[in-house]
Amino acid sequence: MPEFKYKTMGQQFGRRSWAEPWKIKMVEPLRMLTPEERRRAASEAGYNTFLLRSEDVYIDLLTDSGTSAMSDRQWAGLMLGDEAYAGSRNFYRLEDAIRKFYGFKHVVPTHQGRGAEHLISKALIEPGDIIPGNMYFTTTRLHQELAGGTFVDVICAAAHDPTDRSPFKGDVDLDKLEALIRKVGAEKIPYVSLAGTVNMAGGQPVSMANVKALRALTDRHGIRLYLDATRMAENAFFIQEREPGYREKSIAEILKEFCSFTDGCWMSSKKDNLVNIGGWLAVNHEDVFEKARNMVVIYEGLHTYGGMAGRDMEAVAIGIEEMVDEDHIRSRVDQVRYLGTLLLDWGIPIVEPAGGHAIFLDAKRFYPHIPQAQFPAQTLAAELYLDSGIRSMERGNVSAGRDPKTGDHRYPALELTRLTIPRRVYTQAHMDVVAESIKAAFDSRDKTRGLKMVYEPEYLRFFQARFEPLA
Ligand SMILES: *Cc1c(COP(=O)(O)O)cnc(C)c1O
Repeated sequence: MPEFKYKTMGQQFGRRSWAEPWKIKMVEPLRMLTPEERRRAASEAGYNTFLLRSEDVYIDLLTDSGTSAMSDRQWAGLMLGDEAYAGSRNFYRLEDAIRKFYGFKHVVPTHQGRGAEHLISKALIEPGDIIPGNMYFTTTRLHQELAGGTFVDVICAAAHDPTDRSPFKGDVDLDKLEALIRKVGAEKIPYVSLAGTVNMAGGQPVSMANVKALRALTDRHGIRLYLDATRMAENAFFIQEREPGYREKSIAEILKEFCSFTDGCWMSSKKDNLVNIGGWLAVNHEDVFEKARNMVVIYEGLHTYGGMAGRDMEAVAIGIEEMVDEDHIRSRVDQVRYLGTLLLDWGIPIVEPAGGHAIFLDAKRFYPHIPQAQFPAQTLAAELYLDSGIRSMERGNVSAGRDPKTGDHRYPALELTRLTIPRRVYTQAHMDVVAESIKAAFDSRDKTRGLKMVYEPEYLRFFQARFEPLA
């Protein structure tokens, strides 16, 4: 397949300019701190952007999780919340939306994505099991490990190379997976854990051809295939754009076709589903449904709310309909690519091609003089905050954690600083401001020194670790 080529906005849309496909009905004022105030805030936060107060942030690109702007329809939907303890009508609305757009039979609501990951990991994994997947995600892998399993990465090699412009860098390497199955035995593999798009690889999509082949391979070995559907609408957009035969299909059709090759999915509604909180698990197999529905009452809430208020489930149901709107998804992904194109024009190293939800700065190439043990991606996130009050986050050595066996840092191939774009929140003008701040950090890169970690929590250390600048 030929590598992906960038197009200007005009080429993408066949007209001159591009604008957000919404207008603003309610505004939330932004404030920028002085340089002195930012220095104090950074130091108090231990140079970890997760520990900053939101009030001290100007443009917040920490995450696209739960940060979406809801539509007028979703806000109106909140007033239709049926807060009955059992059998809320909003649950049945949500169940219908999931069946219609994702196509799975059984739905178990949870408070957010990791609640669903907890249920499926506990339902399917026995101690000693192996779970292959297309690159780890922090909470997904941790739940698999806590259930006694070991995650094994079987993503294609291109995913680990930030300069490789292949169109589907989220694809599973089927030979690698087949070799793993032969080595450990199919009975040790409860399921393959497939994510579309792959967050940690830079938001890279999985092709329809790959999921089809994966289904055939797992069927041959009697292994189940479950999907992390958190950003599958964005994945569907990339298939429509890049994969032969899908140009004329709608996002909704592509999403449903992709899901049809899997046995079920877990979902963080805080991403694609355009809400501030929520999640769910949806499966076809009765046995998994039975187990998950038994466990949800222990960990989340009754099986018709799972930790969400009735009004939240209504907003998720409406968000699912809005997420597959062609104008919405195209402008969402193109806003991300607009930022990426500005940076590439200035020669700033990013993961290419730009993914669906974020621009990932390649900190190894940005700061070649800072060794990975001194956290170049964490350093870059701190520098951007100091320059302009923009909040990004580290996806590198700190996020990868330590190897449970050896206790060493994992030193991942990708050392990235992620600028994640919330859905429907910021305008193109905000993207210009962000790009200029990154350019300022890039122009003064030779003077920048790394960080040392002075506090390290036991789990998911990137959330709470503290750092100090090296002299
Ligand atoms: C956010 C996320 C999760 C976890 O969901 P939460 O709602 O944050 O608990 C799982 N997988 C992926 C790919 C995610 O991005």
